[in-house]
Amino acid sequence: MRVNPLPRADVDLRGSNSLRLPCRVEWCADVEDAADLPELLAFGRERALELHVLGSGSNVILPERLHGLVLRMRNRGIELLEETPSRRVIRVAAGEAWHPFVLHCHAQGWFGFENLALIPGTVGAAPIQNIGAYGVELDRFVLEVHGLELRTGRTQVLDAAACAFAYRDSIFKRALAGDFLITEVLFALPARLPPFTGYAALVTELAGCKTPDHADVLTAVITLRRRRLPDPGVLPNAGSFFKNPVIEADAFERLHCSEPGIAHWRQGDGRVKLAAAWLLERCGWKGYREVGVGVHEAQALVLVNHGEGTAHALLDLAARIASSVQNRFGVMLEIEPVVF
Ligand code: FAD
Ligand code: NAP
Repeated sequence: MRVNPLPRADVDLRGSNSLRLPCRVEWCADVEDAADLPELLAFGRERALELHVLGSGSNVILPERLHGLVLRMRNRGIELLEETPSRRVIRVAAGEAWHPFVLHCHAQGWFGFENLALIPGTVGAAPIQNIGAYGVELDRFVLEVHGLELRTGRTQVLDAAACAFAYRDSIFKRALAGDFLITEVLFALPARLPPFTGYAALVTELAGCKTPDHADVLTAVITLRRRRLPDPGVLPNAGSFFKNPVIEADAFERLHCSEPGIAHWRQGDGRVKLAAAWLLERCGWKGYREVGVGVHEAQALVLVNHGEGTAHALLDLAARIASSVQNRFGVMLEIEPVVF
């Protein structure tokens, strides 16, 4: 028989965040079954605790002392709900790890997630910032997000439109920030989906492949990521620390006059996306190091903890970086990870 997980007091979360920032939380519970949530919410309500949700901690900045109750999503389960000639619908529990889920789908012939391989984290966190990589974003496969409001415990189902997905953004980072716990996600994968190979780094990696299929894309993405991205197990980091800024066309034209070499991509809506990494490099931050924290020497967008780093030191460095970019280019950078 399963024993209900009582929250534990004064828990060390250093090993539960990929930046390895020191953090002790007042209370912490591992949610292995969504059915335990009403009891856990009642525990929090009785003690007037602030509630926080954590997946695997690969996109958070945790303070040294966190008040309240952390709910770590650990529920499991992958189920094929529907299979028709046009699509497959898959239900996945929030606590499933993302990359093994991608590999599982691929092995079943449920193609589509290959470009998102090797992104750290849980399935439940994936809709929060609408994870994206190599030209594909999660939102194109999301059918429904199931969860509950933390304040009221009321269960809710949001369809993809209600999630207001955008570039590294969704309603869960805005109107519902801090008040929605995702218990499971329903994905719809089109039955006949061509592999997406139109991303510059993929084009190069697949150059020797005449007609790349989904397996080739999966292998290419894994190879590229292993080669290019720092492993948080070796050098603690949270992936990209800043979002790529998207600016209005007229602002871009002015900037382009003074910086003709600026890396940029024109968007469908007329706005222009800039490479945050390029802006950081031009301001001289690549490879910068100070006590405890720094900027990765090969990936300027990745801030790292050299061992003694704290949230305070990291956010202080991030603020100085953002202000130097603002002063030089007039562009505001936004932090991508969620600051607790
Ligand atoms: P956490 O870090 O635990 O949480 C992130 C946020 O989601 C927090 O606000 C948390 O409260 C909330 N949250 C988590 N689970 C739930 C839930 N079940 N219900 C409600 N809220 C929840 N991101 C990309 O988009 N593309 C990439 O290519 C990419 N590459 C990365 C590479 C590295 C090396 C690293 C370290 C990170 C990378 N990321 C990338 C960022 C990160 O992997 C994703 O944002 C991922 O979805 C975070 O999952 P997590 O379970 O670790 O979430
Ligand atoms: P890369 O392929 O060298 O590209 C560098 C940057 O240029 C990325 O931020 C990417 O934006 C942008 N870019 C490249 N081609 C683009 C295009 N055709 N249109 C618009 N923007 C374009 O990047 P990398 O660092 O090796 O990472 C590879 C992929 O993994 C990228 O998609 C990146 O976003 C993703 N990744 C994300 C994180 C994270 O924490 N969020 C961490 C590591 C890797 P996009 O970010 O929009 O793709």
